[in-house]
Amino acid sequence: MAYDFDLYVIGAGSGGVRSARFAAGFGAKVAVAESRYLGGTCVNVGCVPKKLLVYGAHFAEDFEQSAGFGWTLGEADFDWATLIANKDREINRLNGIYRNLLLNSGVTLHEGHARLIDPHQVEVNGQRYTAKHILIATGGWPQIPDIPGREHAISSNEAFFLKELPKRILVVGGGYIAVEFAGIFHGLGADTKLLYRGELFLRGFDGAVRKHLQEELTKRGLDLQFNADIERIEKQADGSLKVTLKDGRELATDCVFYATGRRPMLDNLGLENTGVKLDKRGFIEVDEQYQSAEPSILAIGDVIGRVQLTPVALAEGMAVARRLFKPEQYRPVDYNMIPTAVFSLPNIGTVGLTEEQAREAGHKVQIFESRFRPMKLTLTECQERTLMKLVVDAETDKVLGCHMVGPDAGEIVQGLAIALKAGATKRDFDETIGVHPTAAEEFVTMRTPVAG
Ligand code: FAD
Ligand code: NDP
Repeated sequence: MAYDFDLYVIGAGSGGVRSARFAAGFGAKVAVAESRYLGGTCVNVGCVPKKLLVYGAHFAEDFEQSAGFGWTLGEADFDWATLIANKDREINRLNGIYRNLLLNSGVTLHEGHARLIDPHQVEVNGQRYTAKHILIATGGWPQIPDIPGREHAISSNEAFFLKELPKRILVVGGGYIAVEFAGIFHGLGADTKLLYRGELFLRGFDGAVRKHLQEELTKRGLDLQFNADIERIEKQADGSLKVTLKDGRELATDCVFYATGRRPMLDNLGLENTGVKLDKRGFIEVDEQYQSAEPSILAIGDVIGRVQLTPVALAEGMAVARRLFKPEQYRPVDYNMIPTAVFSLPNIGTVGLTEEQAREAGHKVQIFESRFRPMKLTLTECQERTLMKLVVDAETDKVLGCHMVGPDAGEIVQGLAIALKAGATKRDFDETIGVHPTAAEEFVTMRTPVAG
């Protein structure tokens, strides 16, 4: 049967755009449907605007610290509306770049909501298109628990477009988004509380990293409330919010921001017209080649709920394009040693196993740690300390994990990830000459294990 397209991609986000562009480059006839914004979550309401806001928040401490270097500044004043307008302008520019990337690579763009009609057919804006393969790359959506008053809460989607910086804000959750946004709001001057339901935030990260970040954020005056969960939110006559916690405490705030995970975006997608199956958590179930239970339908990125990071969605998109249209170049995505950063202030950067994971996996481990005051702060009052940690297999000498809390941790860990991926040993680290004076050189000068 002749199809309209070789590949029909639903969702022009990180994974969808990558797959569509490369498939078209390999000679396939490709269309992509996008209902909301080109570039998807990452470009519009994720990584990119988030990092811009983190930069914005960082200026507060730069101004403060500059005094130690002899600078005298006038009273600093911050205007949220300017930051948001400039951020929006930049995102608009990026949307245009994504449009050109798609069109210049020969992809047909359909702007509208796509719905599956059958395993080979999609409907967009009342038009039906057939395709040999359909790729679902529809991403995720914030998930707010069903508590009384949830309609008064916002998610990351709205946080990027608030008209004003709230005077007081409660950020709920203990994952990437909660920790990053608590840092943004606190840095920009809002009275910020982070509420997390467990003992300590950032479950799954190395224990020393979690504890160190807790201490650093507390030093900065961020109010961390652990073992705290909201029972209900009520709007008050003056527009403020009364938040009642499960332990009976009441808090007054102007904004409640939930960052409690993301669900797959499957709304009105027409999955019921196909044999696509969902896993226990509700994400699209796929095999190792991203094929769903319906052979003509594939899925990648956040909608399959494996690792919700842009570079992973990009790698999956590339793998699909290669497997379908350039099989001689196909390589499966390697999910080992995925580096990641939390853009809290200070940043976390991490790659490989945490100490807890390494021990659980049966490794006999040696732990190397360094804690120090960053050189830039020595002329300032700031008492911030950096943490660097290596988890080493005592038997093979392989470095199993690198973890850092401190300025530019994400930048530093990206380079270390290559070393770990290549199987570097602690001896390789020791024999590497440092770059002096940097913080990163500490990773090659840690000599004495703190624990075995
Ligand atoms: P998306 O990028 O979400 O794209 C899906 C697209 O599909 C969207 O544009 C959507 O409008 C469209 N769509 C959905 N349904 C339909 C339909 N039926 N028809 C047509 N179009 C449809 N990751 C990092 O690596 N680093 C970070 O710093 C980082 N920061 C983040 C900060 C925030 C606040 C958030 C929310 C996420 C962040 N992420 C970060 C995660 C990252 O954004 C996602 O992992 C990534 O965007 C997933 O890409 P995707 O292609 O799966 O989906
Ligand atoms: P995460 O899964 O990282 O964290 C969710 C948090 O919410 C956890 O602390 C979880 O607690 C808590 N939680 C879940 N359900 C509830 C509930 N019902 N009530 C109270 N608390 C709850 O999700 P995020 O929303 O922070 O981010 C989504 C994903 O986006 C991330 O996992 C990450 O993959 C990606 N991302 C990446 C970034 C980066 O690379 N820098 C930045 C932002 C997002 P518990 O631990 O107890 O389960």
